[in-house]
Formats: sequence, C-alpha cells, structure tokens
Amino acid sequence: MTINKEHSRQADYWQPFNHRRVECTLCPRHCRPMHNQVGFCGVRGNEHNQLRTYNYGKSLAATQEVIETEAINHYMPGARILSMGNIGCMMECSFCQNWETSQVKHLNQRLIREYTPEEVVAICVENKIEVLSWTYNDPVVWQEFVAETSRLARQQGIKTLYKSALYIEQAPLDELLKYIDVFSISLKSLSEQFYKKHTRGRLGPVLAALQHIAKSNRHLEVSQLVIPGLNDDEQNLTTTINWIATQLGVDVPVHFVAFHPAYKYTQVQRTDINVLRQARHWALQAGIRSVYMGNVSVDGENDTLCRHCAAPLVRRYGLHAEIVNLDSQGMCRSCGTASPIKMPRDKTLQQDRITLAQDFKHKLYIHWQPDMQSVHIVKTHGEETQDTLQFRIIGDNEAYVREIRHGLDRFILAAQSKHDKGVVMSWNSTNQYDILPLLDRAHYPVTLSSGLEEIPVRVVNG
Ligand code: SF4
Repeated sequence: MTINKEHSRQADYWQPFNHRRVECTLCPRHCRPMHNQVGFCGVRGNEHNQLRTYNYGKSLAATQEVIETEAINHYMPGARILSMGNIGCMMECSFCQNWETSQVKHLNQRLIREYTPEEVVAICVENKIEVLSWTYNDPVVWQEFVAETSRLARQQGIKTLYKSALYIEQAPLDELLKYIDVFSISLKSLSEQFYKKHTRGRLGPVLAALQHIAKSNRHLEVSQLVIPGLNDDEQNLTTTINWIATQLGVDVPVHFVAFHPAYKYTQVQRTDINVLRQARHWALQAGIRSVYMGNVSVDGENDTLCRHCAAPLVRRYGLHAEIVNLDSQGMCRSCGTASPIKMPRDKTLQQDRITLAQDFKHKLYIHWQPDMQSVHIVKTHGEETQDTLQFRIIGDNEAYVREIRHGLDRFILAAQSKHDKGVVMSWNSTNQYDILPLLDRAHYPVTLSSGLEEIPVRVVNG
C-alpha cells in the first residue's frame, strides 16, 4: 500500500540536494528522494524537484478522549481532548502500538478522512473540547497541518498538546514551540543501540530535542513504554531515570507505561505491573517528584497527593481523573500548599451528572473486564449529526449525558473506579454505534483486537 497522493501540497522544511534529488530537513533522517519517490515515512516525496506532503489534512476520525490518554497528569486533569492522528511515521518501532496507522504499507485507506484546519477547530468549539491533541502515529510527519491548525486553535482559546517520539529537527520544533502548550514525549530507552535496532532512529536527536523543550516554558511530561525483554531491566530503567533527573529536572512528571504485544513484537506478555512499580520506586529514589504508571487500572497508586500534607488532590483510576482537593489556583484545599498541577479545571466541568432518567430507546451494555477498562464508541450509521447520549453506570442511580455534535463520530468511554462494573449507553436517534476495545491509552483501535473476539458487550435495540 502506498499513500493516495491526491490533495498534496508543497512541504515546509526541505532544500534542493542536486539536480535529481531534494533533501527533507523535517526529521534527522534527511531523506533525499528522487522524482516520484517518497521518503522513509511514506508521506513526503519528490515531485519535479519539489518536496510535497501527501497527508495534509488526512486523518483518522477525530476522537474525543481525556487528557490522561496522552500520559499527561499535571495539566488540566480530566480535560476533554480532541485526538487527531494522521498516517505515516519517521520511525519504525518493532513494538509499535499503533502500527496499523503509523506504517503506511499497512494502512487501510477507508480509515482516512479529510479535514481543514478550520473544521478541526470548529469540532473543538462545537463539542466544548478544551484541548486539541496531536497523537497516535506521530505528528512529526504532519508538521504543516499541525502548526497551522494549532495556531488557529490557540486563537480560539483552545490548548494544544503534542504526543510524540520527538525525532525532529530543531527548526520545525521551534515552530511548534510557538503554538503547542503541552508536550508528552515518549522516550524509548537511553541506549543508542536500542534506538538503532528497534526504532530505526537515533537517540541523540531525541535527547537534544527533549532538552530544548525542557528549557522552554512549555509543559512537559515524559513517558517510557516498558517492554518485556527489551528495556525493562534495572540498568536500562535507571539509566533513563538518571538522565531525566539530571538533564530535564526532577519536576518533570514521568510515566512508566505497560506494553501490549503488537506489530513485530508479539512473542511476550503484557508488562507485569510489578515491573512498573519497581521502575516507579527507582525513579522516586532518584529524586523525581511525580512518577505514574500507565495502562494500568489501580486504586490509589496513581493519585496526585499534596506534597505537604499528603491529601489526595487528584484521584485516578485508569483513564478517569477526578479533582478532589484542589482549588482553581492549583492550591491544596487542606493546607494551602501550591500543587504541581497546572490549569486545574472547575470540578463541575468534569461531568454533567443528572439524577437517573429512564434509559433512552436504544441501548448498548458495556461490561468492563480486567484487561479492558475503556472503549472507543464509534458511530457506524446514521445521518443525525447531533445526538444526545446518556451513560448510566451499571448498578448506580446517577447518569451523565453527553451531546455529540457535528464532526465527532468517535469518543472514549472508560471505567471510573474499581467498583464500576460497566455502563449502559442509551440514545433516541436513528444513529447506530459500535464499540472497539481500547487496549491502552494513545492507542487507536481499528478492529476487534485479537484475544478480545468475545467482546463483553451486548447490543439491545428497542
Ligand atoms: S520526515 Fe519523512 S521524508 Fe522527511 S526526513 Fe523524515 S522520514 Fe524522511
């Protein structure tokens, strides 16, 4: 599969190389394609000695999620985000968690839609989404669309988030620093050999770019996917921890994230939670002040506590976050100490709870499983662009409603506590919805995942 080259436009960040080739200067790979050839990422190529970008505005369906899906815990906890993911990647990690969209050769074109920057911003505004997130595959290869749309979003007061492996040159990164508020960076390892062998990239440029962000005033959190047999040993983990502590600073929140077998690395199990706990312990010992575990649903262990009186400020369970003891200025309500949380949101924004009404006409039952605590709900049929959906936690007397408006056909639903057994979703419109299990955060499910064919969901119409 190669990318559809319709609606291409001239790329930024390139230069002529010789009379037959151009040199792309967006990422450190510096591909030099000849006429009619594309670079390593598969989405930028040479046409008549001009570098073109083939993915401008081409995206997976815009998806409403929460900021915690992006390994961000200290910025607007619980905020709604609009996740935009495109296609292609400047790396090829053997363990990629989004390989069906990051690797162009595996792409299903039917997943792709086209958006303008104005349409993306309008979806945020109409659906009251507070943060626009560039995520899933890697936004580096979408630079032109990301920069233009982020600039427009900020004009509307919408915050912008960039989730990336950060294999990027400094000039495009400097452009992003003008428009991006929050960076969530995935550091794979501190081993040059690891990067070369397992990502087909290089470590040095990633570290340089991370240090560049750390010196800016932008919000930064760093995560490491902990992959059994590849980077989960003590030396690997402590080397990464010590580099973060000394080069980025102990106040940068760190996330150790569980891996699910994917792409070319399927011969191992999911990461054992005790390995994440051990990594977290070493990071805290090294002085890093906020360390979290990702892709696990635990009670209490991922909360943010007041550094002075230890009162819980934000409670977390899986992808669900609830502000419990924080005022609008980010101060602990118990002792008045400043917290590390930036832009804490009004507690009342978190959910539009209502006293239980009757379920609407059409219903989906979603039962959480130990390995599946969140799903994507996807509109599959129906013309009604605006829909009101009601969600009732099974066994609970309360419900919450969400209005889905124009342009938003996919959104996330996640378990809210260890007592949450499942959700009844109901609606009255003629739209039809389907459910795809979400294995991990920042994962874009495209099919029922292997091992989950027996999806624990029942559909009831009428
Ligand atoms: S962005 Fe793509 S074409 Fe440009 S140097 Fe990187 S991999 Fe090559």
